[in-house]
Amino acid sequence: MGSDISGKPSGATGWASNHAWTVTVVALLVSVMVVVLVWHQMHEQGREQARREFNLLNNNTVAELESRMNDYKQVLRAGAALLESRDETSRETWHRFIERLALPEHYPGFLGVGVSQIITPEALADHEAAVRAEGFPDYQIHPVGDRARYTSIIYLEPFSGRNLAAFGYDMYSDPVRRAAMDLAVSKNAAVLSNAVTLLQEPDADIQSGVLMYLPSYHPDMPLSSVSERWQALRAFVYSPFRMDDLITGTLGALDELVHFEIYDGLVLTDSTRIYRSWQGDETLQPDALQETLLLPLHEQIWTLRFYSTPAFSRAFIQPRESVTLVMGLILSLMLAAIIYTLATRRQRAEMLAEQMTRDLRDTEQALRLNQERHLLAMDSSSMGTWSWNLSTRLITWDVQLAPLFGLKSSDYFDGTPEAFMMLLHPGDRDRVRQELNSAAANRHEYDTEYRVIWPDGTLRYVASRARVMESPGGNDLMMTGTCWDVTEKRRAQVMKQEFVSTISHELRTPLTAISGAMGLLLGGALGSLPDPVQNLIRIANENSKRLLHLINDLLDFEKLDAGKLEFHFENQDARALLINALEVNESVAARHQASLVLRWHPATTVWINVDAMRFQQIMANLISNAAKYSPPEGLITISADVSGGRLIIAVADQGKGIPDAFQGRVFERFAQADSSDTRRVGGTGLGLAICRELISHMGGSIRFDSTDQGTTFYIDLPVVLRIQDSTTLDAQRP
Ligand code: ADP
Repeated sequence: MGSDISGKPSGATGWASNHAWTVTVVALLVSVMVVVLVWHQMHEQGREQARREFNLLNNNTVAELESRMNDYKQVLRAGAALLESRDETSRETWHRFIERLALPEHYPGFLGVGVSQIITPEALADHEAAVRAEGFPDYQIHPVGDRARYTSIIYLEPFSGRNLAAFGYDMYSDPVRRAAMDLAVSKNAAVLSNAVTLLQEPDADIQSGVLMYLPSYHPDMPLSSVSERWQALRAFVYSPFRMDDLITGTLGALDELVHFEIYDGLVLTDSTRIYRSWQGDETLQPDALQETLLLPLHEQIWTLRFYSTPAFSRAFIQPRESVTLVMGLILSLMLAAIIYTLATRRQRAEMLAEQMTRDLRDTEQALRLNQERHLLAMDSSSMGTWSWNLSTRLITWDVQLAPLFGLKSSDYFDGTPEAFMMLLHPGDRDRVRQELNSAAANRHEYDTEYRVIWPDGTLRYVASRARVMESPGGNDLMMTGTCWDVTEKRRAQVMKQEFVSTISHELRTPLTAISGAMGLLLGGALGSLPDPVQNLIRIANENSKRLLHLINDLLDFEKLDAGKLEFHFENQDARALLINALEVNESVAARHQASLVLRWHPATTVWINVDAMRFQQIMANLISNAAKYSPPEGLITISADVSGGRLIIAVADQGKGIPDAFQGRVFERFAQADSSDTRRVGGTGLGLAICRELISHMGGSIRFDSTDQGTTFYIDLPVVLRIQDSTTLDAQRP
């Protein structure tokens, strides 16, 4: 038993902890998956959001640059308009015009605004002489050389610092600048040049530069064709831009969220790059957001390439997502820990409960077994206990059992059911074997009596009772019971039966004779008797009849008990039986001033299989009871109906009913509600007890309903056959 109990839980613990681990790991995996999914979703959303932000920032940059360049174009337009509004413009006028615009204030990053005059080779010498005369004795158009067309930067405001280096420079001599100037005339529009190195550049920190040109013409000349425009061209109003200064001046201090590069044109190479917002050695993030935007500017295209910076990622992407991921993972771990704790705790509790239940059951069974053995051992020394193990099929018994079978406790008994059967009377063996097997198979209580033949030939009666239960360890089914000797009881019973039947017979014969003789006397066989004699004989006659009745009842009982009452079953027409009962008992009813009526309801002839005489005995008993307790002029109704294959016969009276307190004992032997009543109406208290026995022998049952308005007894019997009948008759008797 110990090994059982200690063995099972350890397996269960293993299972339990495995189970707990499985649940925990599954929960952990699921929650981590959920966290990762959520994180991924947030990451995607975050990136999408960031991309929108990035896009917005970049578009702003492009828009600001575009708008600033347009502003510069307007300044050039104003300059060109000034030139065209007068025949001659002085250096002073230009100076004041530019000063008035307050360019450094409104457009930081503006390097200057200048006028590059067109000079034909013929006019070159006069031109140089005129400028020198203005107080610039070193003035000379440079680079020096013979060219078909000269241009010279004659004004450049502010006229100071490195701008002075450009004074007198022939921009048309440089191919890049020339291309832009040609385009400006041919398009008659402001044109931005490709990248150049400006003359204003210092020796170190060289930036890329671009120039914007706008042609200015003689006021009254036609400008419809390119050649007309060249004819009319007087000068270019222009502006040089250093890229870094231009961008800083336009966008202000950069906020470090986005890096960008500007390329001159659509080809992105180191040589076409004119601007980079960050210092050369800073490397870009591998997963930086990138975007390329084109900015068409005054016949030029700038390509802007944007890159998000770590600052951008910090501001728009990482913080929220990483917090979610870390918190999610921490929560998952906590959840797993909680689930593991709960799972193991619940399983521990379940295991503990199971263990306790098992222990309790074992203890209970051991106790019950002990108690039973103990009680039986104490009860009688001619009692013994036995156990039949239904798994091993072996019987064990205690030492007190052997004497019941005429054996000594030292005698060998091999415990097989066959060996046990050999101890029984051959006539009982099959029955007992059957009873044992059926009780074992159905786990019924086993309760029987059998005859035992002792080795010396003595016949004994043994009673045995047993129950099927689990063995204390719970592994086996056991039938455990007791045996005791009932030989003496049997003998007493037989003696009593013999005594009662002898006495009854001995009494019945003379009593019948006495009763018959008195009947003759009362009937006037010896002539009329004097009234007092007649009265005494009537009393004697009634009492002898009662005595006879009692004896008959007693005899019936003894026969029923001993199983000796014989039944002659025959199929009977139930209605005919009832009509007969009515006829036979009508005088009994009349004696109590009651009348009888039969109500037959079935539309068929109903056949029942009964002993007609015993059936009539039952009916007589019920009708006589009804009559006895009926009020004067009471009606006794006998009705019959078929329901569910059974014939239900009801005998109803209008008496004051059976007292509530007595109703539970009506069918007990010698039971009568009230002795005074009995004296008045007569009876033995055996009638209903006999009725119940007889009815059950005929396969039926009896019950009753009783109120203070009357009592109805119902008997029901199985119907064996019904034959359709055209008429429904209520056989009725007054
Ligand atoms: P008895 O021979 O005394 O009538 P029964 O066994 O027939 O014995 O009846 C037992 C008792 O049940 C009766 O003594 C009576 O108290 C009660 N009893 C039986 N039938 C009726 C009835 N129809 N109305 C009232 N009481 C009844």
